[in-house]
Amino acid sequence: MAKPPKFQAIRGTRDLLPPETALWNRVEENARHVFGTFGFGEIRPPVFEPTELFARAVGGETDIVSKEMYTFADQTGQSEEASSLATRHSPLATSISLRPEATASVCRAYIEHNMQQLPQPQKLYYLGPMFRRERPQKGRYRQFYQIGAEVLGGSDAPAIDAEVIEMVMTFFNRLQLPGVQLDVNSIGHAADNCRRGYVAALKSALEKVKDKLGADSQRRIETNPLRVLDSKLEHEQPIIETLPRIADHLCDDCKAHYAAVKCQLELRGVLYKENWRLVRGLDYYMRTTFEITAQGLGSQNAVCGGGRYDGLVELLGGPPTKGIGFAIGEDRLILSLLEGLKSQGGSPNSPLAAGHSPLVYIAWMGEHVCATAIRAAKDLRNAGFSVELPPTEQKFGKALERASKLGSRYALILGDNEVAEGSWTLKTLADGSQQKFTEPELLEFLRSSRG
Ligand code: ATP
Ligand code: MG
Repeated sequence: MAKPPKFQAIRGTRDLLPPETALWNRVEENARHVFGTFGFGEIRPPVFEPTELFARAVGGETDIVSKEMYTFADQTGQSEEASSLATRHSPLATSISLRPEATASVCRAYIEHNMQQLPQPQKLYYLGPMFRRERPQKGRYRQFYQIGAEVLGGSDAPAIDAEVIEMVMTFFNRLQLPGVQLDVNSIGHAADNCRRGYVAALKSALEKVKDKLGADSQRRIETNPLRVLDSKLEHEQPIIETLPRIADHLCDDCKAHYAAVKCQLELRGVLYKENWRLVRGLDYYMRTTFEITAQGLGSQNAVCGGGRYDGLVELLGGPPTKGIGFAIGEDRLILSLLEGLKSQGGSPNSPLAAGHSPLVYIAWMGEHVCATAIRAAKDLRNAGFSVELPPTEQKFGKALERASKLGSRYALILGDNEVAEGSWTLKTLADGSQQKFTEPELLEFLRSSRG
């Protein structure tokens, strides 16, 4: 038989391994907890959807839809046997895509399950993998994870925008994410004298400086002039500073809404920075937009993007519905947390230190001891302590060596004598000290030292 190839995870994907996964779990537990305190419930949409859903929601012209989606043909209305390789590319095939983001799915679910008939607004959050065929680099992967939330239905009261932002900031504070900065902006709405007026003014100002702009920005003057404001090119910065600003073009309603959002953020003690260059290129995004950056991420420093999208549910065939949401890049969030831990020299309270080391290593030896060791492991685990029980007996010296290697705090020594006496020896590995306990005393001791 041919030698098997050396398999590797596909470019842009990666394995998340312990002990780092302990941090991922801690982050996700905190998200669930914090979002729960704000009255959000979890939604778990599928990871693939009709391509058409993303084309409509995200926009066919965007990079995401036009070149980054993992799209393939699937059969509809046929039995599984019929979907052999030969027919897989038949005209009956529907195009499906791995989700590049989840807002479209949440809106689809809102419509599909008639959630507008439930109490409004519906507050939903999700966690899970997203897929985009981008150039892999630090903080940018082809399978990456987002934690996001959406508020659908109800009113567009500025307090809702502010509460959604307050919720993300509360979550980040709880994680002690280093160097958090919140930027906010209002991009008006699609009506004539608001964003359309601004885009027209921006376009004509851009035409005048076209020669000084790079190729990307030149192209965007036609396709999506707002995206020029996003440019990171050094030589374009002084030019961009002279361009018209959206704040001067907002209609009275949008102006009032934006002022009220800022006032609401202040009431909630949320620090923000206004950033007139913060835009979202898609038509259905409107009014409030925000982005949160964190430390230690290089140029991929955005950990969260969000905004209001009152037109989206309708665009997907639902009733007119208010909407606002955000998506956090969990991979970047974790990278930033790890950088923060590193710069603190990995404090003993760090979530990684908690890791997956067993608290107690059971060093057992002797034919009659096996049953007691098994029972001790069961009782300690039931009481919530992590225990390593070696499958076969080991000489005590070997056992202690392995216990320290695993990072255990204690070794529970069980030999024939201990079992006969009913008094067990607990060795603290850090200083070698030993104490004798009956089983109930041992549990009591471990509980009280848990702190
Ligand atoms: P960026 O400008 O960094 O490409 P984006 O505008 O594409 O971000 P969104 O689509 O708003 O980002 O997604 C929200 C968040 O998801 C981003 O702020 C980022 O943290 C994360 N994210 C987006 N794409 C990736 C990716 N390919 N790998 C890892 N995280 C990502
Ligand atoms: Mg992107």
